[in-house]
Formats: sequence, C-alpha cells, structure tokens
Amino acid sequence: MRITDMNWMQVEAQVQRDDRTVIPLGSTEQHAYLSLSTDSILAERVALEAAFPLGVPVYPVLHYGCAPYFLDYPGSVSIRYTTYLNIIRDLLDSVAATGFRRIVIVNGHGGNSSAANFIIEWMAEHPDVQVKWHDWWRGPRTWAQVQAIDPVASHASWMENFPWTRLPGIEMPTEQKHLPEKGTFANLAGKAARAYYGDGNFDGYYQRTDEEMNMIWLAAVKETRSLLENDWR
Ligand SMILES: [Zn+2]
Repeated sequence: MRITDMNWMQVEAQVQRDDRTVIPLGSTEQHAYLSLSTDSILAERVALEAAFPLGVPVYPVLHYGCAPYFLDYPGSVSIRYTTYLNIIRDLLDSVAATGFRRIVIVNGHGGNSSAANFIIEWMAEHPDVQVKWHDWWRGPRTWAQVQAIDPVASHASWMENFPWTRLPGIEMPTEQKHLPEKGTFANLAGKAARAYYGDGNFDGYYQRTDEEMNMIWLAAVKETRSLLENDWR
C-alpha cells in the first residue's frame, strides 16, 4: 500500500499493527535513451511490489538524488551531498516520529549510496529504530541474475531498460556500447563527463528481451521482500 493512498488515521492504525515501512530513493538524471526518472521509477516500483503482499506501506519516492557528474545533461538534477544527508535525516526523523521502527530504504541510484554510512550514525542516535539500506539492483541475488544474462551491464544500459522505463517512440541503438579506457583520468564532471560518457550509457547493449528483464525483476522483488520479512534483530 502507498502512503499516498492513506490518510493519517489509517497510518496511525497501521503502525500499531506493524512497525515496518519502506522509503524508496530515486534520482532525476540522464539515462541515455531511457527516462530521466529511471532510478525513481525502478526504486518505487520494486518497493511497492515487494511490500504489497505484506501489507507494508511505502512512502513516495524521493525523486532527486546526488548526480553531480551529470549536470551537463539537460534535465538532470543534483542535490549536494551535505543537503542530501540532511534530507535523509529529516525523512528518518519523520518516519520514526510516526512510530515506524523497522525501515527499509530501497535505493535506486549509486550516487545516493554515500548516505548508507550516515544511516549507521543515525541509528546510533536512535537505538530503538532499525534501518536497512538496500541498493536494489546490486543486491547479491539480483546482481547474480543480471550477470547470468549478460555481464556487460551498467548505468543506462539494457539492465535499466524495462517496459516501464522506456519512452514511447524512442528507438534504441543495437550495438554494444563500450566507453573508452579511462586510465588514470581524474573523476569527470561537467562538459568533460558529457564528452566521455556520450549518450550516457556506461557499458553494454541498450535493450534485451522482456523475458530476460522479467527474470531480473522477479529476483529483485523477491530479494527486496526478503529484507522486509527477515533478519530484524
Ligand atoms: Zn539508473
């Protein structure tokens, strides 16, 4: 169930029955030919499908994240890391104030993962609340499924190309993208990043079959659900 589809009285009653909840984290950033909201769409959807059979409520996805390397790509947004940690703190404080005590953060963007360490600091200050940080696409079982299908998979490649992240009427290139050797270059930002990443796919084909994508999706939903079900202390 979605927090969006509930009123506050329903949430108050829900938290008495079950103190688990999910916060999905996304990003608005270039994904080559795919939607700029790819990370938000995937994080929210995997969270909703994982939580639905358990009756666990899912907060609305945070649509913005940390993507400073993509600021030269139109439509991309980056929240400063310092700001982002404060947003995560405020989110957790609010969700804990509601009474939730077991929180799964389903993150859809690697640039947000710096906040995973911050979670430990927050938990040290809130010993009655447990938080799990889950980068859903690289959970061990999901990542193994990706690798079994095609080990050349990365940002904005086929592995993020689901029927729900594609855009209508956009043709995908058919070749396998390979970025040039980066060697010992400094980290890239701005125009240099755009020149290097080109269309924005980091590595791999642009699309694979819906059957293969469904296998990955089922693995991701199952793995995310198991985090909600198991291994709370
Ligand atoms: Zn992505």
